Amino acid sequence: MQTCIYDLKTQYEKGMDEAARAIQEGELVAMPTETVYGLAADAQNACAVEQIFLAKGRPQDNPLIVHIDRIEELDKIAFANKLAEKLAKAFWPGPLTLVVKKRPGMIPDVVTCGMDTVAVRLPKSAYARELIARSGRYIAAPSANISGRPSPTRASHVMEDFLGKIPIILDGGECEVGLESTVVAVYGDKPVILRPGGITEDMIKEVAGEVEISPAVLGGLKEGQRAASPGMKYKHYSPKAEIVIADGSTRRAIANATGILYDKYSKNSKVLILCSADMAEFYDSMNYKVVGKTPEDFAHVLFDELRRADEEKYDAVILEAVKPVGMGLAVMNRALRSAGFKVVKGDE
Ligand code: AMP
Ligand code: MG
Repeated sequence: MQTCIYDLKTQYEKGMDEAARAIQEGELVAMPTETVYGLAADAQNACAVEQIFLAKGRPQDNPLIVHIDRIEELDKIAFANKLAEKLAKAFWPGPLTLVVKKRPGMIPDVVTCGMDTVAVRLPKSAYARELIARSGRYIAAPSANISGRPSPTRASHVMEDFLGKIPIILDGGECEVGLESTVVAVYGDKPVILRPGGITEDMIKEVAGEVEISPAVLGGLKEGQRAASPGMKYKHYSPKAEIVIADGSTRRAIANATGILYDKYSKNSKVLILCSADMAEFYDSMNYKVVGKTPEDFAHVLFDELRRADEEKYDAVILEAVKPVGMGLAVMNRALRSAGFKVVKGDE
């Protein structure tokens, strides 16, 4: 199959028209959003949605997010309670996904993996909203990566995984956030964060009054434990290089952990340290790269750096732990999964 790539800066009309038509005809389109690139299909076309699972190699029990372009659509797909409406009003359009009770007959079982809930999001990206509006469909879209790989934050990442396998890639430049949306279950009386992202715990608390964080966010699931969100079960975001996290209670302790790991790996392998600007002073003679100053900076480049590490044939990448609050919680959630929960502490 030939993949057409449209640069939305220079080929906006043609790209959007072709992509909207492809969606209407049941084909797959990679679309930019403010979080990561999505692999999009008509959410009400079960055959089209099946193609998403096939193309990604995605487990059949990991449901998809349905993207809408207007807040009013939420109530057509789902029974939105007061809590859902409040959060939607506060954070849509934006990187927040609400898991709500499904209305019967609207969204096929293949999207929700047969569950009675559906995940819905109104993206901030004007490109994503235009594609939804122009196609006139609800759009089911997981991240546009082969299942298990780091999510794509540039069109070139999508090409790595899907060139020749899908008909259209819309190139909207680099994604603003760089990590997937915050997923919150809101069908109970209390919101529960199933996956952290750009809309943080504090932001949700301010609107809802309270919020719980699923224990699976920073931990793995134990044998036999049921996942509230099926996506929590799988090893995720993994490049070919071995990822390991350096942690500790002080800056020096983190630097110690990094040093121990660097010595261990660099004996026979090519190793990279991804660190924050204020830690660089510890890594003088080592191979390090500064990823920014804040957790937001880290979030923005994490997946890009993990993919680049493979391109540059690194055997191992050491990630510095960040404080798991605010956007730091989202960064650690992804970092831990990409490292398969391998953490070394410098102050033990
Ligand atoms: P992605 O496929 O990377 O876009 O991630 C979608 C996330 O939303 C995954 O973690 C899914 O498991 C989660 N999700 C989608 N639908 C539901 C649902 N009905 N209940 C709980 N989590 C869901
Ligand atoms: Mg994904």
